[in-house]
Amino acid sequence: MDEAFFAKRISNALKWREGRFGGSFRIVNAESDFLPGLIIDKYEDALAIQMLTWGMEQQKETIIAASERVLSPKAIVLRNESPAREDEGLPHQTQVVKGDLKQETIVKMGPLRFLVDLISGHKTGFYFDQRENRLLTKEFASDAAVLDCFSYTGAFGVHALFYGARRATFVDSSARALELARENLRINKLSGGEFIKADVFDFLKSGVNEYDLVILDPPSFIKSKKKVKEGEKGYIDLHKKALRRLAQGGSLFTFSCSHHMKRQRFRDLLRIAAYAKADVYLVRELTQSPDHPVMLTIPETEYLKGLILRVLRR
Ligand code: SAH
Repeated sequence: MDEAFFAKRISNALKWREGRFGGSFRIVNAESDFLPGLIIDKYEDALAIQMLTWGMEQQKETIIAASERVLSPKAIVLRNESPAREDEGLPHQTQVVKGDLKQETIVKMGPLRFLVDLISGHKTGFYFDQRENRLLTKEFASDAAVLDCFSYTGAFGVHALFYGARRATFVDSSARALELARENLRINKLSGGEFIKADVFDFLKSGVNEYDLVILDPPSFIKSKKKVKEGEKGYIDLHKKALRRLAQGGSLFTFSCSHHMKRQRFRDLLRIAAYAKADVYLVRELTQSPDHPVMLTIPETEYLKGLILRVLRR
């Protein structure tokens, strides 16, 4: 494998995405772009690259050179800090290898702008995989009281406010994420935000019936096959609590990004959580953004499952 090899695969990946997602999107999504262990995300003029396997790490310089050749970025940061690297015996490493990168960059996402921390944000800084799903809040946001759980930098709630929500409560355990969420409201000239640093499970305990739209976008609770039972209990508990907070006829956007949670099982768990408490309509099934392509021939490439539900409380 040489620079030409990587340049060809990167440009194939780009060809298919160019013009579809604006200036910020995932260019290389590992297996789905025939480059297992390699992630390349584009944040306007900057690239954030992750090498997640030993093999890709060995090709570091070649990959950087090929990315420069095909994508001509102004800056490149290596965000080599995923837990997956520990399994490969690789150290965590964040390094700006080209340009002078500002820690915080503003990216355009459809009608909105978001501040992204390219040095210490989660993953490579922003969750592109929810891009289209956030736009769907439009249908449900008008005059709504919104609860954005596991909000990270607020992308779901910011969309809901933009589409006419009356107010949005952002809940996350990370103070830094909430600080950026607050900024994201400001740069989009939106008001009506409330920012709560808390464990979502605790936050959901008190109060009933107040929100017209609830978003649940948790991190993966099920990290390995051995943890499936425990993780499933977590999902049931989370949804029981969230259902209580929804107003009559309210809507729930809920997601699981765990590889070990199958789509049908996710539905089943929601059914279990709702039994005897609510009648739940399945409005729409959701998946990951197409810049994280699903290959039918590699089922593991589909990881994000989402449902929009309308909830009638009993
Ligand atoms: N919805 C976000 C992405 C969520 S990522 C978006 O659209 O960009 C998951 C978030 O959950 C992270 O920000 C993490 O800090 C937060 N988190 C993880 N466990 C939590 C918990 N128990 N309570 C509150 N927040 C939690």
